[in-house]
Amino acid sequence: AKQDGRNTYHHYDESLDKASENKFKMLQLLRPALSEQQFELHYQPIVELKSGNINTLEALLRWPQPDGSMIPPDLFIPLAESSGLINELGSWVVRQATQFCAQLRQQGHSDIRIAVNLSVMQFKDGQLQRTIESALYEAGLPPEALELELTESLLIDETEQIQKQLASLSKLGITIAIDDFGTGYSNLGYLRNFNASKLKVDRSFISPLCFSEHDESLVGAIINMAASLGLKTVAEGIEDDETLQKLLSLGCDIGQGYYWSKPLPENALIEYLLNRNTL
Ligand code: C2E
Ligand code: CA
Ligand code: CA
Ligand code: CA
Repeated sequence: AKQDGRNTYHHYDESLDKASENKFKMLQLLRPALSEQQFELHYQPIVELKSGNINTLEALLRWPQPDGSMIPPDLFIPLAESSGLINELGSWVVRQATQFCAQLRQQGHSDIRIAVNLSVMQFKDGQLQRTIESALYEAGLPPEALELELTESLLIDETEQIQKQLASLSKLGITIAIDDFGTGYSNLGYLRNFNASKLKVDRSFISPLCFSEHDESLVGAIINMAASLGLKTVAEGIEDDETLQKLLSLGCDIGQGYYWSKPLPENALIEYLLNRNTL
């Protein structure tokens, strides 16, 4: 029977596919990675289209590996969520990003703001507001310097609990942005319940904008409806001038994408801002 058991186990072991094996390994590496400060934030400029001003930077998590490669956030964030590590990781992101924002303000970028992505899990332990307020306090930043990005799909569940917390955060002066808009099922009116003042249109609608009339009229309609609700529209994933011009003609307020810059590590971002200001 023992032999059978071992054989069965062995068989099961072999049937584990490579992907879930890698997932399991990654999961075990996540916690030490956080305590050993292996994670980094990279920052991508968000640009006011008419003036060309950079008024916000989006903080994006990176997990550099010993071989020089990076594990992308789309891979490890779902694991951090399922393992419960996301609260700790998310708090680290808020503290790190606010510290960097304060540093930039001291270096003369006195109006620069920072945008941080939140996971729905971070609304469940009741510590979010306290974490955010103490990060702002320690960095010496006003709440207006912080923007929180929440994906549209996240707002479908647990709405009441999330709405209350967002109302309270926005009352402090923190900006709420709805991320990946267009990929979920909510309508624009519904988003008002979340105290949002910005809408980030998902990249999947922007990249092919120059080729598809359908996408163009859809994005135009989103921009107009958002404006009538008092929301500003941010277009993600702008990669070329043609797309930028099209978005300007559709009345889009704000943009982000490789056209200006990829997400950059702190020092490279500081250099980028300096070069831009002297142009
Ligand atoms: P997101 O919030 O929608 O972030 C935008 C993603 O689009 C980023 O991918 C960015 O590098 C990429 N991007 C920006 N401009 C362009 C462009 O012009 N072309 C193309 N092809 N891509 C562009 P990234 O950094 O890989 O992040 C992926 C996702 O991981 C993010 O999507 C966000 O949902 C999540 N994420 C990243 N950092 C955090 C974090 O600190 N907390 C949480 N909860 N999620 C995070
Ligand atoms: Ca985002
Ligand atoms: Ca997005
Ligand atoms: Ca996304």
